Amino acid sequence: GKMTYYFSKTKTEGKGLSKELLGGKGLNLAEMTSIGLPVPPGFTITTEVCDGYYKSGKKLPAGLMDEVRKNVGMLEKELGKKFGDDKSPLLVSVRSGAAMSMPGMMNTILNLGLNDVSTAGLANATQNERFAYDAYRRLIDMFGDVVMGVDHEHFDHAFGKIKAKYKVKADTDVPAEGLIELCAAYKEIFRKYTGKDFPQDPYTQLEAAVEAVFKSWMGAKAVTYREVENIRGLLGTAVNVQSMVYGNMGDDSGTGVAFTRDPNTGKNEFFGEFLVNAQGEDVVAGIRTPQPVAEMPKWNKAIHKQLLEIKDILEQHYTDMQDIEFTIEKGTLFMLQTRNGKRTGTAAVKMAVDMVKEKLIDEKKAIRRIPAGDLSQLLLPSLDTKALEDAREKKLVLTIGLPASPGAAVGKLTFTAEEAVERAASGERVILCRKETSPEDVAGMHSAAGILTSTGGMTSHAAVVARGWGRCCVVGAGEMTIDEKAKKMTIKGKTYSGNDIITINGTTGEVFAGAMPTMEPKLGGDFATVMKWSDKYRTLGIRTNADSPTDAQRAREFGAEGIGLCRTEHMFFGEDRIAAMREMILATEVDARKTALAKLLPFQREDFVGIFTAMKGLPVTVRLLDPPLHEFLPHDAKTQEELGKQMGLKPAVIKARVAQLHESNPMLGHRGCRLSVTYPEILEMQVRAIIEAAIICKGKKIDAKPEIMIPLVGTAVELKYLKELTQKTIDEVIAEKKFKGSLDVLIGTMIEIPRAALTADEIAEHAQFFSFGTNDLTQMTFGFSRDDINSFLPDYLRKDLLTADPFQTLDQSGVGQLVEMGVQKGRKTNKDLKVGICGEHGGDPASVDFCHRAGLNYVSCSPFRVPIARLAAAQAAI
Ligand code: ADP
Ligand code: MG
Ligand code: MG
Repeated sequence: GKMTYYFSKTKTEGKGLSKELLGGKGLNLAEMTSIGLPVPPGFTITTEVCDGYYKSGKKLPAGLMDEVRKNVGMLEKELGKKFGDDKSPLLVSVRSGAAMSMPGMMNTILNLGLNDVSTAGLANATQNERFAYDAYRRLIDMFGDVVMGVDHEHFDHAFGKIKAKYKVKADTDVPAEGLIELCAAYKEIFRKYTGKDFPQDPYTQLEAAVEAVFKSWMGAKAVTYREVENIRGLLGTAVNVQSMVYGNMGDDSGTGVAFTRDPNTGKNEFFGEFLVNAQGEDVVAGIRTPQPVAEMPKWNKAIHKQLLEIKDILEQHYTDMQDIEFTIEKGTLFMLQTRNGKRTGTAAVKMAVDMVKEKLIDEKKAIRRIPAGDLSQLLLPSLDTKALEDAREKKLVLTIGLPASPGAAVGKLTFTAEEAVERAASGERVILCRKETSPEDVAGMHSAAGILTSTGGMTSHAAVVARGWGRCCVVGAGEMTIDEKAKKMTIKGKTYSGNDIITINGTTGEVFAGAMPTMEPKLGGDFATVMKWSDKYRTLGIRTNADSPTDAQRAREFGAEGIGLCRTEHMFFGEDRIAAMREMILATEVDARKTALAKLLPFQREDFVGIFTAMKGLPVTVRLLDPPLHEFLPHDAKTQEELGKQMGLKPAVIKARVAQLHESNPMLGHRGCRLSVTYPEILEMQVRAIIEAAIICKGKKIDAKPEIMIPLVGTAVELKYLKELTQKTIDEVIAEKKFKGSLDVLIGTMIEIPRAALTADEIAEHAQFFSFGTNDLTQMTFGFSRDDINSFLPDYLRKDLLTADPFQTLDQSGVGQLVEMGVQKGRKTNKDLKVGICGEHGGDPASVDFCHRAGLNYVSCSPFRVPIARLAAAQAAI
């Protein structure tokens, strides 16, 4: 098939094709060309070629270089230059670009086609010797590093020596003769470390560079990035070969990167940086400090104006915020890249709402545009305002860097990515503190609560990556010096090490010593608008998992329409009640157990009154006691002894009872409804507490709507028995309390054992609702222990044997079938059956989408994920 696609003013072969084939960069270069923007011409080698390269044991396919030569020929004709020429040489860049953007993960080579002869030719043609040798030294460096694996440090070292010799600091101040010397030194280094001369034949250079880009697809950096970002199933990277334009031709030239709107706040303001007399990566590499684009009019008003026009054209074309790269060659602007820009959750929300107002997109598109999971960033804590003011007043601000990614983070200092990974894995909250970050650091950055760097700008690696994740990040804190080896950093003469806690404020760039209190966010404005739209389009109900009035209240504020799971076991751990709970468990006679349960009753009742009150008339699904009883007992000898003293029992008795309750497989043991089968009095107490609480609330004009949920049911008869017992208790309490009002109590069950899903039609005879407990259902369907999966899950993910953790994202093809079957069979028996889900999956956008399609009535998730579920449910519905 066709392996290359040409793009230029005269012909854009790739227009309208897919990112999967051309990569994002390649496709957008073709698009920009076709809408008339100034893009240097070039061609794209497809991702299929990369795939073929790996499938054939790392061999470039036959005929590829012929096609490449043909394309280079077209470029030569179009530009009136010749590849490797001694008069007017054509130079190209070789750029990677996969379907998903992986910033800085793969390598780019610039100025390809230079050799001793063509460099002299370029110097002559441009009348700029300095420029030509600057381009050549960059090529030898990049080619040496990227293609041949020569450490960039060696080149850097030689550059340092030249700068010292000419007594200059900045790269740009090295004169032409210095750069000529440098090129000679670079070629020497190249020979020393590769055993070969720097290749003079431009096609040899080109072929090796194309292959190097393909190789970088499987490089460690790129592989880690895809793992962390969960990017799977791509063919590989495309390669873009593009004619060079030069930002390093003098003070009328430059290069820059920008966003069409502010990627932090979402404000409709052109946002970015540029660097005069510079090429390629100079802006992001933090070698010199770039200027904000707002300063550009002082340098070149016309270019600034043209950029603003192009910004509007791009936003109109893509109807989204763009992240662009551009270069100015002697006062002429060229566009080198555009893509949908990464943004914080806050910015995503603001931009979506603004763009609807601007009539750029409609509400549905706005909803689809916001990654539901990113809403969590808006719900994240920021620094407590009062504490922040105090700290500022007391001058506790250590230093101020650039506010690269908002939010607040508190943690102990770590100085390497590996350390951050390790310490985070052992449960510490850490701040990754580095001079700058590079793609090697992504795993550590992901593990850290926040990221702090001493160099780099708003578009540096750390800033871009952190924003993508919504991780709090401060960059360019230049007053900080870091000694990575000694694991220390110093600010204004004070030194901080790995055990010191710092606080960073990603919204302002401030850095503080010590831990500062954080504060919950306020939700209004654009966020409220997006929520309103979500509620308009979604059909799925959203409930929450909450066991306390505080959580219930918060979830209501986040928009929960009821409680889908109230776990009663959490209510037994409180200091004031654990003793009675233990007494109940240790009792060997029914009477003693009943005495202990009677002590627990008022606590339970009070809890339910609180929750019904907080939910003000919304339904509350209460799950009866679920965990194995031994979880409530102390396992160490000392606490057992104390407990014995309290209860007037010999330690040996307690020890014996603990031993008796021990199970080899507690998760498949005596738990859930099995407890109520053995100890019906536990169920009776809990149901009594629920009903008494409901009656108390009714008396206070609070419309309590309890739904009693029986966990871990596997057979219809099991449920029938417990349902009858529940109903009997309800009737007794109502009669006893002489309650005359109306009280609707639903009785239902969890579907979390595969057998329950398989026999859902029988089970539905006795249930008014089902709630899929997908945590246990996943555990039992896969046979993966929830608590032990981490010992092998990483291997499964790495080897692509699983695409996601099935406890985070519902396994639709396996576990999902049981859910679908459960819904269908259940509704066949009882067409009014209410069906929900209450596992962790209820707050996962992909799983919410599945639940919508499976016809569930609602999903239930933790309070903080309620807004995410509302948006995800709307996305599923439109
Ligand atoms: P990345 O994917 O890491 O951003 P790019 O392929 O975009 O890598 O290349 C990095 C930078 O190199 C670009 O931002 C641009 O400044 C420079 N560059 C790439 N190709 C050209 C070219 N043809 N002419 C001038 N500069 C180029
Ligand atoms: Mg780029
Ligand atoms: Mg369960």
